[in-house]
Amino acid sequence: MGYSKFFNPEETLDRAGIEALQTERLRATVAHCMGSEFYRKRFREAGISAGDIRTLDDLQKIPFTTKQDLRDTYPFGIASIPLSECARLHSSSGTTGNPTVILHSKKDLEQWANAVARCLWMVGCRPDDVFQNSSGYGMFTGGLGFQYGAELLGMLTVPAGAGNTLRQIKFITDFGTTVLHAIPSYASRLYEVMCEKGIDPRRDTKLRILAIGAEPHSEDTRKRIEEMLGVKAYNSFGMSEMCGPGVAFECPEQNGMHIWEDYYIVEIIDPETLKPVPEGEVGELVLTTINREAMPLLRYRTRDLTRILPGECPCGRHHKRIDRIRGRSDDMIILKGVNIFPIQVEQVLMQYNELASDYLITLDTEEGNDSMTIEVELANSFIDDYSALQRLERNIVRMLRDEILVTPKVKFVPKGSLPQSEGKAVRVRDLRKKY
Ligand code: ADP
Ligand code: ZN
Repeated sequence: MGYSKFFNPEETLDRAGIEALQTERLRATVAHCMGSEFYRKRFREAGISAGDIRTLDDLQKIPFTTKQDLRDTYPFGIASIPLSECARLHSSSGTTGNPTVILHSKKDLEQWANAVARCLWMVGCRPDDVFQNSSGYGMFTGGLGFQYGAELLGMLTVPAGAGNTLRQIKFITDFGTTVLHAIPSYASRLYEVMCEKGIDPRRDTKLRILAIGAEPHSEDTRKRIEEMLGVKAYNSFGMSEMCGPGVAFECPEQNGMHIWEDYYIVEIIDPETLKPVPEGEVGELVLTTINREAMPLLRYRTRDLTRILPGECPCGRHHKRIDRIRGRSDDMIILKGVNIFPIQVEQVLMQYNELASDYLITLDTEEGNDSMTIEVELANSFIDDYSALQRLERNIVRMLRDEILVTPKVKFVPKGSLPQSEGKAVRVRDLRKKY
């Protein structure tokens, strides 16, 4: 209807165009970083100067930046411009150690809103849509990040905020919400409460697009949510250190998330050797911001594990695609010497229609040995038949053992009985004795 498929011309750059722009922006960013005491010292220690960084390959000369650096320099230590030129800060929760702070200039905020608007436009959001955001506002970047992006795109926005599910549903029905942003665990919760209230999302709402992200989820979880709410759900990746949402987003192909390479330079490294992994292999995502002025981050180790999907995307964008995030390197469970990610468990569980979406993994010590118990909620439709339950349990345990190489205990619990968290779902409880 007269609209372009693309929000920004940068979206359709070819590889040569992307790399030329990256080279130019990398040089400018590195020069700009010399306004920061932190980077001046880093470069001095590494025996390099800003002028040594001329090509994309030169990036390898720059030391990594880590979450620990952000903590050590808390609150404003990495900033490359004076505080008087900054317009906002976001701070992480700081559940482990010092919180971290990211500063933004006015221009940074505009660029961030543009990235989010670009993502939403890409999946078909248009000014006549009604956009509802169920993220917490305030320090959590999913709130303001989506808010300004959706406003820039020109949608009518409903800044509902987190929680209060009944009110959330009332907004969806009363305001004719067509696009919703929710974390996957909350999307499932909304559906459950709608069912309890006799609301059929397909019949009684206008929902058509869902942006889901902020926590790892499997392809089956996405399909379930799409089915439940009658929407197309697009994976959204972001993190506070990289502004927030808008870093990478699925296109209509729903096959990997385009990471905006006019904003970020992407590397995937082996977290042990810190060397790049071969193209297409899983490793730690490392990002360099090349479109930010208050607090650029050079070679920031995100701790998120993913890979670059090989091949071209039919959508016409040449920005690389990252695969679903497997989890953070610090989410990894080491049980009996085996490395396990919660998402591997989820991938198995979500294949069973007999199960609902909520599960909790508990690690404990029994007679000196590590044990894993998975509590998972049964779907309402499941008929309570003891031998059927036993068969189901045996099947699930077998599939899990094949996937994670240890044998967990599986316990079925009634729907709604696992603890609900306000924000991201808590999937692992570690009660093991630490020696
Ligand atoms: P916090 O550190 O408090 O969780 P953030 O909101 O910055 O704060 O969280 C960013 C992290 O959330 C990412 O590093 C990643 O681990 C996770 N994340 C974000 N988006 C996704 C996604 N689409 N899929 C999986 N994990 C995601
Ligand atoms: Zn695409």
